[in-house]
Parts: sequence; C-alpha cells; structure tokens
Amino acid sequence: MDKVITIDGPAGAGKSTVSKALAARLGYVYLDTGALYRALAYKALRDRVATDDPDALAKLCATTDVTLHNVDGHMTVYVDGEEVGGKIRTEEVGLAASSISAFPVVREKLLSLQRDAGARGGIVAEGRDMGSVVFPNADFKFFLDADLEERIRRRTRELGDGNQPAQTACVAKDMRARDQQDSQRKIAPLTASPDALIIDSTSLTVDGVVDRIIERMAFAGASRPAGRKPNGA
Ligand code: C5P
Repeated sequence: MDKVITIDGPAGAGKSTVSKALAARLGYVYLDTGALYRALAYKALRDRVATDDPDALAKLCATTDVTLHNVDGHMTVYVDGEEVGGKIRTEEVGLAASSISAFPVVREKLLSLQRDAGARGGIVAEGRDMGSVVFPNADFKFFLDADLEERIRRRTRELGDGNQPAQTACVAKDMRARDQQDSQRKIAPLTASPDALIIDSTSLTVDGVVDRIIERMAFAGASRPAGRKPNGA
C-alpha cells in the first residue's frame, strides 16, 4: 500500500512548498490541513463569530459543511460548497485559524475529514499534529523547522511585500503570536513527535529538503525489519 507521510512544523518553515514538491515527486496526494482550520476561521471572520467563544464556535461547527475534493492531486477545501482558495491565505485568517484551532470542538470536527483523506495512503499530510494525533501510525514522520528570522523572511516574501519594513514587522508579530498559541495550547500542541525526523531547513533549498526526506525514506525502507514501521510507529 502507498505510504502516509506526515510533515509538521511551525508557520514559515517551508512545509507547504516541501510537501507539495514531495507529493509531486512521489505521485502522492497533498493534504494541507492548515487550510481546513483557515477555512473555518474565514467563515467565522466573515460571519463575525467570536474566535475565542467556545459556544459560538460549537454552533459554527454544527452549521458548517467542510469538504475536501481531490483537484489534480491537491486536496482542495470547500466551505458550504464554496471553494475558499486564496481568500484564506491572509495573516488575519492565519491568526484566527490559530485561535479557533485551540478549541476541541473545532479539532474534533476536522479530525475524521483528515483521517479519511489519508485512509488509503499515498498522501503527504502537513500541519501541526499530523504525526502526533491525526496519523500516529504514519509510515514516515518529519518535523520541519527553521530559524524565526528566516521564517519571517519567507512568509513576508510569500505575501509579496518583501521590501516593506512595516509588512515585515507585522508578519513578525503575527508569527510570534501564532508560534506561542500553537505550541502552548492544551490539545494537539505544535510539537515534534518523538519518532519524527527533525529537519532544519534554514539553509536548505526546497529540493535539498525533499532529497533529504526521500533519502531517509529509502534508508528506513531498506533497513527496516519485515513487518515493522519506520520511526518506531
Ligand atoms: O499551516 P497554516 O499556517 O496554514 O495553519 C494555520 C493555523 O491552523 C496554524 O497556525 C495552527 O494554529 C492551525 N493548525 C492546526 N493543526 C494543523 C494545521 C494547522 O492547529 N494540523
């Protein structure tokens, strides 16, 4: 059966670019789980639902239809039938996603969707808790990290305002807030699974990181005793 590969890590560590490139090289499906949290957060902001109110979020979850459809190997998110695409890619939505993702009702709503997407294997799933919670038995687990300064640079470049000091300061502030929220929340905090391989991407290219992942998979596959999963899972 095709494998389940998980890639966790903080914002700006390069997870999306690396996961997409890895999925393309292997012919696997790419699942961006942050997009699911962003999609719900987008609806919350649009409908003025308080992103720190558990009752309001429970109602939002109960009345929102979130679905995933495979579009050319990329699991695309729909909210109540609407493809949310680029609308969820703002820092405002990212911060709101970080806020709502600390609530159990939100995480529970999105859990089975993620597991179903990976049920048949052949998937590269990226997020914060892929290896620790969603796919604890994944075949290969990676945790991608990078220095904070580099992550800020990458995110600012992604937003297309790389030369504006004010934009950089804004991204830096949001990223610090998200790092703190994501790693200190009680449920499914951002953390490297003990059985994940940690890769520091600060001075690596995307291809360099993908090569390292593929080497690791080849090595683990070759050295693993029959019937045992790598990474101790
Ligand atoms: O990965 P991305 O930056 O798009 O994720 C947005 C937010 O969604 C994160 O800051 C995090 O709080 C939340 N998230 C999560 N668990 C995941 C993926 C994302 O809590 N598996």
